[in-house]
Order: sequence, then structure tokens, then C-alpha cells
Amino acid sequence: MVDSHDSDCLHRFDFEHLPVRGLLIHMDVSWRALHEHRDYPSSIQKILGESVVASVLLAATIKFDGQLTFQLKGDGPMHLLLAQCTAGLGVRGLARFKAAELPVGESTLQQLAGDGHLTVTLESEDLQQRYQGVVPIVDGRLAQCLEAYFQQSEQLPTRLWLHANEQGVAGMLLQRLPSPSAAKNAVSEAHHASETQQQFDDDWQRLQLIADTLSPDELSQLADQEILQRLFNEDDLRLFDSMPVYFKCRCSRERVSGMLQTLGHEEANSVLAEQGQIEVHCDFCNRAYVFDAVDVAQLFATATAGIGTQQRH
Ligand SMILES: [Zn+2]
Repeated sequence: MVDSHDSDCLHRFDFEHLPVRGLLIHMDVSWRALHEHRDYPSSIQKILGESVVASVLLAATIKFDGQLTFQLKGDGPMHLLLAQCTAGLGVRGLARFKAAELPVGESTLQQLAGDGHLTVTLESEDLQQRYQGVVPIVDGRLAQCLEAYFQQSEQLPTRLWLHANEQGVAGMLLQRLPSPSAAKNAVSEAHHASETQQQFDDDWQRLQLIADTLSPDELSQLADQEILQRLFNEDDLRLFDSMPVYFKCRCSRERVSGMLQTLGHEEANSVLAEQGQIEVHCDFCNRAYVFDAVDVAQLFATATAGIGTQQRH
């Protein structure tokens, strides 16, 4: 198979005559940039890749302005996984795990994460609005867990196909939208509407069965247009322009400073005394933030001044 797939982009597509929409995503350079500074075992890399793809697919199905956080938290060897995607499709992610306790070979979601929850949080840019949806981690694959999430939180039947390895990650989503409502008064029209509804249900089943025939290799290696032609050549599709997906970390010196202030002056001074400077690495991108004695003194001088100002009001 010639590897000719689209790279680091998301494609939306609509079925012209059916209340169904879809998404296709491929990440290569952005995926490698996201994990290259961490030496993840392959099982962790795979679940992180699938989660990163899932976070983009989730973000792309929801109209929002801000950040979406996808979180897996459980009592298994991988106790935390985070994937975050902005409305502009900038993504970052990380996983924390106990290497010695990881199962050998292919593992299910529950073998890695244990008993726990999948949480999806939406935050607006100004942090004023927040929405959260939670589903339990189920055994099997991440896609199944997410399908349960869509059913519960959005009440939209949704199917996902995810594939991840060290080099690249890919995903496809199909979502059944509410059927166009028909006139409710006329009896003949109502009858017609239920017939149409039945037809839509049948079509939705048909599309899922066809999509299930797509192999992981085809999903990761074929161009998006080719995937759609191969699967849905009997349906009229509209493929929209692609949107770039990229690796983006939101860490900053300001945020790390805030974290050090929360830690406290005494604690900061004791690290300074021990190591000569404070070096903090971002968990997402591994960027180093270094604070020397002068920086620390300044940090707590401003912090104290800030509190003083607040107290006078
Ligand atoms: Zn960072």
C-alpha cells in the first residue's frame, strides 16, 4: 500500500442526503513533537495517541471557544492521562504510569487505566464557563468508552475508529445528527416522516458496517479522499477544506511563577539553598524554566506587594 495519507490535518465531511456527519484526522509531525521528549513504552504511547486524536475529534464536534481536556484517571498502572485541544486544534498531552506494573503486550484500556473515569471538560477562554461530562472506564478499547460518552452527554449516536503508533496517529468519526423534523399536522406527512426515519436508521446501520471494514493500515496510510471513496462511493459526500492540527503547549514563565508562589517562599528558599537554582520542567513539552536567587526574591516581593494592595481595599 502506498503511504499517501494527509498529514497533521482534520477533514470534515457531510453526507448530502443523510443526517450524518464525519471527521477524518491524521497527525504525524505534531504527534511526534508531542511525545518525542518522553520515553513512553509502546502500550502507553498507543493509548496516548488514541486519546490525543479523540480530544481533537471531540473538540471538532462541539462549538466552543477555549480548551477541551480529555482525562483518564483510574487505579491502574497508568493512573493519569491528559490530552488537551484548543478550539484552534492545538494539542498537547501526557501520561503518568508505573512502568514496573504495566501489562506485557497488547493491553485493554482497563488493564492500563484500571477502574476509574473518562472525564471531558470544556473551559471557555476566560475560564468563566465550564462544562464537564463523565463516564466510567469500560473494558475494551478507548473508542467504545468514548461512544458511551457521546451517547450519554450529547445523545448523539457516534462511532469512532482510532489508530496510533510511534510515527503517527489517525482517526475517523461518524455522528448521527437529529433527523430533519417533518410537518406534524398532516397524517400522510407523519406517515411519510416515519418511513423516512426508518430509512435514516437503516442508512446509519449501513454506514457503520461499511466503516468497520476499514483496516487500521488503510485508516493510517490512505489519503482522506481515497478513504471516503473506498468506503462511501454510493453516497453523495461533501468534503470540506482541511484544518491544520498542531502541537501547542500553553505553559509559560508566568504560570510556573504562579506555581512557585503557591509553593511558598520557605520551600522555594530551601530548594535554592540545596540546588543553587530552581529548575522546573513542563510535563507536557519538557521546556525548562530556571529561577535563580534574584528571580525568587523578586517573585515573592511582588507576591507580598500584591497581597498588601488587596488588603488595603
Ligand atoms: Zn509546556
